[in-house]
Amino acid sequence: MNYEKSALLVIDMQYDFMLDGSLEVKEANDLIQPINDLMKLNWNLVVASKDWHPENHISFASNHEGCKPYDEIILEDGTKQILWPDHCIQNSSGAEIHAEMDQSCIDEIVLKGQNPNVDSYSAFFDNNHLEKTEMDTILKANGIENIYVVGLARDFCVKWTAMDGQELGYNSYFVIDATKAVDPSTDDEVIKELKESNVTIIKISDIQY
Ligand SMILES: [Zn+2]
Repeated sequence: MNYEKSALLVIDMQYDFMLDGSLEVKEANDLIQPINDLMKLNWNLVVASKDWHPENHISFASNHEGCKPYDEIILEDGTKQILWPDHCIQNSSGAEIHAEMDQSCIDEIVLKGQNPNVDSYSAFFDNNHLEKTEMDTILKANGIENIYVVGLARDFCVKWTAMDGQELGYNSYFVIDATKAVDPSTDDEVIKELKESNVTIIKISDIQY
């Protein structure tokens, strides 16, 4: 495996998505050890993303009268939006990367979801693809050609990051057993979408130590 031009993208390993968090993803804490092990490999670059929302963020059910978490609504611009419990509010403790993650291995942190008016599942773009995060710039500046995407959650932010990365021209690898899903019943659909987007699905054991 060519680590020279490869980056590990560690998506949203933040308290609010983990055990007892406001938007807890089941079994999320089981990823801490395997992702710590992966981060220690000889990557050219390790980038972590953080969901980083203002309090008035459009994805929060609390900001829509009469709505509750996990409702799906249509926004004014016609896009579908799943409403979430308040999560990853900028500078809150829930937005911090879990302390058991080995942060000495992280070279760069990319923030996403800062615009109150649009959600951002992908660590590359807002959901409407109008605004870019720093991710693409950072990867290009480091000559990265291959991205290996892990973290939370399999069916949202990891999936969208892997698909956007492939579309931007990276060889995108989705390390499926280094992810956990908000809704594991959608796994088949997630795998289908990834394959249709030419993302390569691999397991941790496919990465050579
Ligand atoms: Zn969010």
